[in-house]
Amino acid sequence: MAIATINPATGATVKSFEPMSESEVQEAIRIADARWKQFRTVSFEQRATWMHAAADNLEADIDTVAEMMTLEMGKTLAAARGEAAKCVKGLRFYADNAEAMLADEALPGGADTVGASRAYTRYESLGVVLAVMPWNYPFWQVLRFAAPALMAGNVGLLKHASNVPQCAMYIQDLFERSGFPKGCFQTLLISAGQVEGVLRDPRVAAATITGSEWAGRSVASICGDEIKPSVLELGGNDPFIVMPSADLESAVATAVTARTQNNGQSCIAAKRFLVHADVYDQFTTRFVEAMSALVVGDPVDDTTDVGPLATSDGRDEVKELVDDAIDKGASILCGGRALDGPGWYFQPTVISDISSEMRVNDEEVFGPVAMLHRVTDMDDAIAVANSTPFGLGSSAWTSSREEQDRFAAEIAAGQVFINGMTTSYPELPFGGTKRSGYGRELSYHGLREFCNAKTVWVK
Ligand code: NDP
Repeated sequence: MAIATINPATGATVKSFEPMSESEVQEAIRIADARWKQFRTVSFEQRATWMHAAADNLEADIDTVAEMMTLEMGKTLAAARGEAAKCVKGLRFYADNAEAMLADEALPGGADTVGASRAYTRYESLGVVLAVMPWNYPFWQVLRFAAPALMAGNVGLLKHASNVPQCAMYIQDLFERSGFPKGCFQTLLISAGQVEGVLRDPRVAAATITGSEWAGRSVASICGDEIKPSVLELGGNDPFIVMPSADLESAVATAVTARTQNNGQSCIAAKRFLVHADVYDQFTTRFVEAMSALVVGDPVDDTTDVGPLATSDGRDEVKELVDDAIDKGASILCGGRALDGPGWYFQPTVISDISSEMRVNDEEVFGPVAMLHRVTDMDDAIAVANSTPFGLGSSAWTSSREEQDRFAAEIAAGQVFINGMTTSYPELPFGGTKRSGYGRELSYHGLREFCNAKTVWVK
């Protein structure tokens, strides 16, 4: 994929970039490695000062970066502003909390339980971490890695998606002008094919990737071969369960947002709607009405609800998955088509009569397409929810405490949200199970992923 800004609303190439040469990549790794050897000893207080400056600078630039995101990947301007504001919060959260979260940890029962006068765990940075990141949240995906990684004393190399180079370059510049010394965070304008060389470099200690299963498998297998830690945040096919006791109005409104946020291109978007038979007809009528009423259009327009998909390949992939479902007997309750004309638009779509041989049943549909399933009871809802190779987020709607507790315990996913849609908070861990990946981002879990938990034992 060429490294270029291509406006998804028009298909026009705005600006192209040359990938870095092998010697430029080598130089960036050299700088990162040399920087880490000094940066690891910088105090938390100093790192926090720079991180707060990054938050302030980003906050001042919210409108500029929102326009950049919308231009490069097509999310609405309102969504892009929201993403930038969330990043500001994330940077401040780690600036304020990293030191306490990485403090030395004493033994609960005292050092003499292990025959020592002092025994504790200390958290140390690992070194240079490569982040392979996607275009769908071009700021949030990167900064939720960078903020904890830098606060822990690691340094970052970013291989961002090829269609968001301006966002990628802005982020390096943001850290540098906020005071982080050169080399703490560098953007590598490289192709996916150049990632292996970086991962195998002995100066690179670890990797994190957010993206497709295929890209995740490649990064994880190279890291496995090199015995380097990795965090994988891959796709999802999240269930959204509606039980008879749910507040239906709220469930319908949230269902629409949960499926169409970010033009339908979110790993934690609700994708499969599992609705109890007692409320299936009511839910379906209202949901289809609300999905049909969404305004599809130019993402810079304030009245737009759903903008274009980020790439022409992405739009073709959604079309293929929907066509496959139609060919195998699915019913289209609304939408179902790519729009004619320039730009990569796809209609908000609701599909029912899903069967197991359809690709939409097992694959992630990265566009505004909802799959409806009728379920008969709790057991059926849980069985259908878990009948996916993925295990990222989930949402269940019920006012019964007993049902809430069962969903929390029995849904096989990294997140269970009850009476709300799956989202991420800096304060809470985020990640998946099964083929959605492993490892955790955010909270203290994300901070410690790229740390050596070192045991210290003193007689
Ligand atoms: P990719 O997984 O191809 O892209 C994500 C990142 O990985 C990009 O930086 C990409 O670089 C890089 N990459 C791709 N292949 C490799 C590789 N073999 N080794 C190392 N890095 C690699 O996602 P796509 O954009 O192609 O989207 C395809 C599907 O992936 C979507 O339809 C969706 O299902 C899923 N996806 C999930 C995301 C999530 O948030 N979990 C985000 C994006 C996609 P480059 O851009 O240069 O190819």
